Amino acid sequence: MKLGIVYHENYLKHNFGPNHPASPEQLALTVKILQEKQIWNDPSVTILSPITATEEDLKSVHDPAFISLIKKYSEIGGSLTADTPIPVGSFEFAKLAVGGAVVAGEAIVKGQVDSSYALTRPGGHHAGITSSSGFCYFNEVAVMVENLKKKYHLKKAMIVDYDVHHGNGTQEIFYEDPNVLYISTHQDPKTLYPGTGFIWEVGSGAGEGFTVNIPLPPRTGHRAYLHAFDNIVVPVAREFKPELIIGYVGADAHFLDPLANLDLKLETYTQVAKRIISLANEMESRLVFFFAGGYNIQVVPQVHLTTIATILNKSVELNEPKTPPKEFPSIIRRVEKLTLEIRENLKPYWKCFKI
Ligand SMILES: [Zn+2]
Repeated sequence: MKLGIVYHENYLKHNFGPNHPASPEQLALTVKILQEKQIWNDPSVTILSPITATEEDLKSVHDPAFISLIKKYSEIGGSLTADTPIPVGSFEFAKLAVGGAVVAGEAIVKGQVDSSYALTRPGGHHAGITSSSGFCYFNEVAVMVENLKKKYHLKKAMIVDYDVHHGNGTQEIFYEDPNVLYISTHQDPKTLYPGTGFIWEVGSGAGEGFTVNIPLPPRTGHRAYLHAFDNIVVPVAREFKPELIIGYVGADAHFLDPLANLDLKLETYTQVAKRIISLANEMESRLVFFFAGGYNIQVVPQVHLTTIATILNKSVELNEPKTPPKEFPSIIRRVEKLTLEIRENLKPYWKCFKI
């Protein structure tokens, strides 16, 4: 297994400003732990340099007026929303993040590596066609997928977005596309930004059935989360048979994250990585993982460490910073019921739920 890790030190230079939850430190500490645990210089790992995405690349997904707006604000300083400032120079950093995604995808189709891991920032799953917020500028995953479709004849991709927030931008971009299956597990939109990702949002037109939302209640925890994953994500993936699986790894679903309350633990991330990798092996799909949200600096590096170690089939010692909270039987029952509701709702589109 050859793994390409896409990284550039300039990813640490973009800063949303003081006291903003998304700081370069989360990525810097991730790189540090990968170096300390000898993953960075492992013989099966290749460190790949990103390119700077072109405006043409961005236009494959985003409206030209929106691209111009970010470019203009990046010259003078501005902001998209209160939570998403655009400090001077942001446009270049945003293009480098998108270029990292492009390289992560191309390295696989060119046969340079078997799988890739994009340690890129700022992220992009809240970036839609004409607007963005939630610490995102451009949708790096969507540009990567469009590039692979256009230049390398990629036909079917599946995105498993397990950031704690719903990826409203990614959903919007692929909402009518039957060739890109978007699956998101996230905290109930009634309780968390961005307030989308309800179970009835299933795609439209030709893409109806190819958006799968799994909105989980606060305090879901390890066992209930994996129950939903095993009974929805796994069967849908097997039926869809993607050529490419994209894991959008948000460490913010961990119980110590300051922004959300989904209560996963490090072991949950190991288990999710195992499931995604085994699905990819079973279907001979290629894999690209992304560094997404996550705001606890003790947790984020370990979430990516365990995911990468699982890809490389290496065991690493994890250090859960605190004892995980108790899992509540009432919440487990609620998630089991929700899982049945989601399966019922998806019955018209997926044979696996008709039995
Ligand atoms: Zn997030």
